[in-house]
Amino acid sequence: MFCWLSRLYLGFSTPTGRIPHLIRSSLSRTLVLTSQRRIPEFSSFVARTNMCGELRSSHIGQEVTLCGWIQYRRQNIFLVLRDFHGLVQVVIPQEESAASVRKILCEAPVESVVQVSGTVISRPPGQENPKMPTGEIEIKVKTAELLNSCKKLPFEIKDFVKKTEALRLQYRYLDLRSFQMQYNLRLRSQMVMKMREYLCNLHGFVDIETPTLFKRTPGGAKEFVIPSREPGKFYCLPQSPQQFKQLLMVGGLDRYFQVARCYRDEGSRPDRQPEFTQIDIEMSFVDQTGIRSLIEGLLQYSWPTDKDPVVVPFPSLTFAEALASYGTDKPDTRFGMKIIDISDLFRNTEVGFLQDALSKPQGAVKAIRVSEGTKYLKRKDIDSIRKFAADHFNQEVLPVFPEASRNWNSPVAQSILEEQRSGLIRLMEIREDDVVLLTAGEHKKACSALGKLRLECADLLEARGLMLRDPALFSFLWVVDFPLFLPKEENPGELESAHHPFTAPHPSDLQLLYTEPEKVRSQHYDLVLNGSEIGGGSIRIHDAELQRYVLATLLKEDVNLLSHLLQALDFGAPPHGGIALGLDRLICLVTGAPSIRDVIAFPKSFRGHDLMSNAPDSLPPEELKPYHIQVSWPADSEAEKSSLNQPSHPES
Ligand code: ASP
Repeated sequence: MFCWLSRLYLGFSTPTGRIPHLIRSSLSRTLVLTSQRRIPEFSSFVARTNMCGELRSSHIGQEVTLCGWIQYRRQNIFLVLRDFHGLVQVVIPQEESAASVRKILCEAPVESVVQVSGTVISRPPGQENPKMPTGEIEIKVKTAELLNSCKKLPFEIKDFVKKTEALRLQYRYLDLRSFQMQYNLRLRSQMVMKMREYLCNLHGFVDIETPTLFKRTPGGAKEFVIPSREPGKFYCLPQSPQQFKQLLMVGGLDRYFQVARCYRDEGSRPDRQPEFTQIDIEMSFVDQTGIRSLIEGLLQYSWPTDKDPVVVPFPSLTFAEALASYGTDKPDTRFGMKIIDISDLFRNTEVGFLQDALSKPQGAVKAIRVSEGTKYLKRKDIDSIRKFAADHFNQEVLPVFPEASRNWNSPVAQSILEEQRSGLIRLMEIREDDVVLLTAGEHKKACSALGKLRLECADLLEARGLMLRDPALFSFLWVVDFPLFLPKEENPGELESAHHPFTAPHPSDLQLLYTEPEKVRSQHYDLVLNGSEIGGGSIRIHDAELQRYVLATLLKEDVNLLSHLLQALDFGAPPHGGIALGLDRLICLVTGAPSIRDVIAFPKSFRGHDLMSNAPDSLPPEELKPYHIQVSWPADSEAEKSSLNQPSHPES
């Protein structure tokens, strides 16, 4: 951790060549985001002369003033001082004449804030610490000042000390002192800066803030509602600046960009936040290729240089191909184990459930090959995989071992004819220790089940020591040609937008819109990274009539809610399109953080609470009055009602 942070800042120094000798070859590819960057002046305007972590033997003899937190103290002789940049050893003076300095430095509790002034000296021979970037030097202190003392902490500020996430979130301001959080937030800031530079300075985008008090947008995610002082009138927090960015195109802004805060009241999901940040983009007179090239260039430009460089153009798959080969619209393409259609091998099978599946429309037999599965997977693993498929997808999954002598009593294995076995070996390129997981059923359902099993198998194989997904690999993928509409989950007879209602149909499917709308493909594209969707966008409908038809006739939405947008499209709206990148998720993947909460300074808990301030919180009835709102308490919430005005407890 420490190393990462120091690399980040060593990186700043690299281009000027000021301290090139400090950069060992393994460190030379730094997090610095461009070789042209100037070194930031970290100590301007403040009491210190240097940062703790920057001092090296080249500073020996210099008088310095440092400000930081006491990380630890050893035998009242040494004190390690920490700032955002790193750690440095301070020698506590032992002479009688320095009694007051010694008192301050020996008595201040750990995590107290001190300012010390003194000389950088080299450590006595044999006492250097090669594990510490500042390990060749120490500070001979002359003066010290206790700037603020620290009370007993709820947890130690050391990255290796384990603490629950609830505790970290409750004391987020302390958690932020960790090197890991410092690294994540600083890397985020640097990437965003480079994105701004690329978009605004290199490509003429205009950074425009759009309102967060807005009204409901039909046909999208659930929105947060904000009361107003007008009886019965509410604002909504925007789920994205979608309407505004389109209206900016009508307004002739031509190229818009915003680091936009978005809000979705979607309940708790582990990788989501009720408020999150998008790099939001819109352009006039652009097509899909233009947007894709822009984003590839943007990521390449802003990519940290200590990671493997981004290779462009990114490959692409159609939605149908992604589903058929990976069982999902966000495939993790870092490894194979693709889904193969083996229906043709089993056309005249004796096996009942295969026969049954193949006799139905869209019925198919599908399989994945788990390479070296017999070596790495135990029988109980296969049993748990089968149970998972049965519980989550209602799908029967059978293990087949075409080349291995054992078959773990796979009932289907005995009924597979020799020609089917050899066909399977050929089609799926089976080698000796491979296991085939086979399922049958409706195409989409069978693929979805195998897609999930593919990921489960990857987890299992990796837990058993077979590395499938290189942690240093960033595998970008465009997924294109989505359907414009999907059947509504709660009412499959009705349609909902696969992306959002402003997405333009694929030009070659335009006529189908009036006859078989469920078959229309769209001009929607998603960007996927290592199996996570990190962005999505579309070319928009810029024709008011078409937009009205989609909203009113196909989606059965209330067009009055969007009359301003429909009107705007009628006043010479240019053709336009855009995209939004999920910044939190992107940074999470780049830093390898376990959760998006680790790349957000003050995130909400998975239940949407701020555990530090305890939001959302109750309000007394008199404060609700101006908004003409009364809480109707659910029957079982007596306790909650009586806790009004009393602090409630954070989640544990
Ligand atoms: N507004 C869309 C979203 O938030 C992105 C876009 O279509 O540009 O997903």
